[in-house]
Amino acid sequence: MSDNQTKYIFVTGGVCSSLGKGISVASLGLLLEGHGYKVTIIKMDPYINIDPGTMSPFQHGEVYVTEDGAETDLDLGYYERFTNSKLSRKNSVSTGQIYNTVIQRERRGDYLGRTVQVIPHITNEIKKRIYDVSSDDALDFVLVEIGGTVGDIESIPFLESIRQIRQELGRKRVMNVHLTLVPTISVAGEQKTKPTQHSVKELMQLGIIPDILLARVGFPLEQDMKAKIALFCNVSERNVISAEDITGSIYEIPFMFQKNEFDIITLEHFNLPVNKSKLPAWENFITTYRNPKHTVKIAVVGKYIQLQDAYRSIYDALMHGAVANEAELEIVRFDSEDLESCGCNDLKDKFAGINGILVPGGFGNRGIEGKIATITHARTEGIPFFGICLGMQCAVIEFARNVCGFVNANSTEFNDQTPYPVISLLEEQEIIAEKGGTMRLGAYHCEFTPGSKISAIYGKESVMERHRHRFEFTMKYKQAFEDKGMIIGGIYPRNNLVETVEIKDHPWFVATQYHPEFKSKPINPHPLFKDFIRASIENSNK
Ligand code: GLN
Repeated sequence: MSDNQTKYIFVTGGVCSSLGKGISVASLGLLLEGHGYKVTIIKMDPYINIDPGTMSPFQHGEVYVTEDGAETDLDLGYYERFTNSKLSRKNSVSTGQIYNTVIQRERRGDYLGRTVQVIPHITNEIKKRIYDVSSDDALDFVLVEIGGTVGDIESIPFLESIRQIRQELGRKRVMNVHLTLVPTISVAGEQKTKPTQHSVKELMQLGIIPDILLARVGFPLEQDMKAKIALFCNVSERNVISAEDITGSIYEIPFMFQKNEFDIITLEHFNLPVNKSKLPAWENFITTYRNPKHTVKIAVVGKYIQLQDAYRSIYDALMHGAVANEAELEIVRFDSEDLESCGCNDLKDKFAGINGILVPGGFGNRGIEGKIATITHARTEGIPFFGICLGMQCAVIEFARNVCGFVNANSTEFNDQTPYPVISLLEEQEIIAEKGGTMRLGAYHCEFTPGSKISAIYGKESVMERHRHRFEFTMKYKQAFEDKGMIIGGIYPRNNLVETVEIKDHPWFVATQYHPEFKSKPINPHPLFKDFIRASIENSNK
């Protein structure tokens, strides 16, 4: 049990998914930081997987990686981009983890003589995880996002746990926020409150009384609508807040909430002093975003480009880099599979008007040859190229085949019979049989080669960056690559692993085995994304 005065804000979702719960929670976190408070955010996911690491992007979108190597929901990416909260594996909890812990304890004999049950054993473990995040840090607020929609069978233990926490700590230290949908019937142009009423009823049956209702709406709720929701849902009129659709960037959402006093109403709930939230750096970012001086067109070539969220952090990091260069960003998404049968001239047509090309991470064979053909185009045409993880591995394969003359060079992930396995598994990975959580994950130290382009871009001799991969550059080919002009820009010194490559005689050709996109923030854009966009703008002016 928490013995300090940390306050807890639980955010549940009603009516349907995709209402923007993650961004709403992140926005509240940012606003509270603007009032000078220290916050952290936890995501509780009711699925039985231990983590999303083994799920397909079609199921789950991007897998986000924390500094300590947890594979998490992409909402943690929003939490880190919006707030200063340092997230770790403690901030990402799933039903699978909870049951795993309880079952291991049962096998050890910790519950000898007792029947192990959802209440209290599962709920106690959930509560412990919530209390634990504030135990080693003096936090003012812990924000907890409960994944899924109220009414789902699998979220019940989580809801029961937050009900108990309210009982234990009392209203002064706990607040419940419920995000719902107030749809507009288009013909009548009328906002409808019934789905919200039903959702709140469902919540109340579980013993949870919302303090704030965030109503996702197409246009702001009128006072009479707020009064109606308040009457039927047992909250005060002031605590019914519009979560309006906005045009423009998601980074403007905190200001929409600020205008609608989400932060002020939250502070009032806890009887805390109500001053105006101060977010000067965030305001500057939005001002620059709204007043671009240049435009830049970046191609992202991947195999999940039809999904909004599969490359979420990459798209966001590109945008941070664009704003840092006072540029308006257009991302053109290419399905790498569609490029597989293209000849050089077709690629010239397809990439006409593109200022820079990025190949992101990925797994499996599908679309690989399209990525390699794209890289040949970027390399030979002098188009700024940024490769990330699989993107770096493809750049190495491309260079091996077309510059070093290693016919049929490949990664052993795609062809284990290749005569030139320029990307391969380390011995310690070869013996691993389990798929979940066994990759090289999280932050590792990367030391740059003196004089390398990448070290100049960072302005540093070494960095810590996050990883999520199994295969590595095969060191025995290093000399052959360097002789032909592909330089190893950075290594992980402890195991002598290649972290970055670059091409000497190219306007901008940098690829990293790590994922720099996870550390980019709007008010602290990642140097590689910033410089890639700068070079791409320069390319567009040629
Ligand atoms: N499939 C590659 C590997 O496991 C690349 C992974 C990635 O791009 N995240 O090494």
